Amino acid sequence: MKLSFHDLGWGITCIETYFHREGLAGCYLVQQGEAAALIDTGTAYTTPNIMELLELRNIQPKQVRYVIPTHVHLDHAGGAGQLMEQLPNASLVVHPLGVRHLTDPGRLTAGATAVYGEEQFYNNFKELLPVPRERVIEATDQLSIDLNGRRLVCLDSPGHARHHNCIWDETSRGFFTGDTFGIAYPELATDQGPFMLLPSTPVQFDPEAWHKTLNRLMSYNPERMFLTHYCGVEQPEILSGPLHEEIDAYVDIALSSNGEKRQEMIRAKLDALYFERLEQHGSKLSNEQIHQVLDMDLGLCAQGLEVWLQRRESQPA
Ligand SMILES: [Zn+2]
Repeated sequence: MKLSFHDLGWGITCIETYFHREGLAGCYLVQQGEAAALIDTGTAYTTPNIMELLELRNIQPKQVRYVIPTHVHLDHAGGAGQLMEQLPNASLVVHPLGVRHLTDPGRLTAGATAVYGEEQFYNNFKELLPVPRERVIEATDQLSIDLNGRRLVCLDSPGHARHHNCIWDETSRGFFTGDTFGIAYPELATDQGPFMLLPSTPVQFDPEAWHKTLNRLMSYNPERMFLTHYCGVEQPEILSGPLHEEIDAYVDIALSSNGEKRQEMIRAKLDALYFERLEQHGSKLSNEQIHQVLDMDLGLCAQGLEVWLQRRESQPA
């Protein structure tokens, strides 16, 4: 795939990963003088593009100090093993609950293969390579990383996944938010600004924790957020409101759905929710066009809510 990237300022570059389609998922290069870090990795198919960008910037592989997946979902961390093989001096910085998945990715591979089938797994992710344990730094809450004098702070940020960190960058006054600050696809932006979608991807949606995490991120007074899906957004104080509303709407949708076709019912309600919200946002897209952009995500959101309901039901009251 052809190298494609966006320079965002502050030494930050968003790299296209080509996951499923263009403009769906990015990962980030952070440059500070002689040193560099990567935040999220894309999949194994992204690694050659990352290496090409480093070369273009005259960054030697040995100058990359850190590879920091926000969480271990495969669009964010699938290429960690391949990338670490290419970067001899890099440490992998990952949430404590993600460590074993990236050092021994057998369980992740089996889980994803069960969902996608072998051929789809190969087409999406190729293969997951293990990262040697001695190259891993466990990013406990508030772990501070020194990138050539630039402070990056890892914040435990449950809600989307329990193994999720958001990375605070003092220099840009921005967070690298993985999936925790939602999804904002460029096609859905209007003159009202970016359109925010909440990814309740299986299997660890946690509405209460998510509200708290959003409040915690906003307590840093960030000026911008660097989303994996997709690229940087400004004025997060405006964008956090819709995310809080969507958390509550998801809970209502899940709890008011029942019967054998519960997941289909949830999906239909999610479609209706977003058609309505997009119209309010001034979107001129037809429902068919919206469906094309959001079909995969809303399918995953419905699955995630179904899993959340099952988990609640299996817990003693
Ligand atoms: Zn993601």
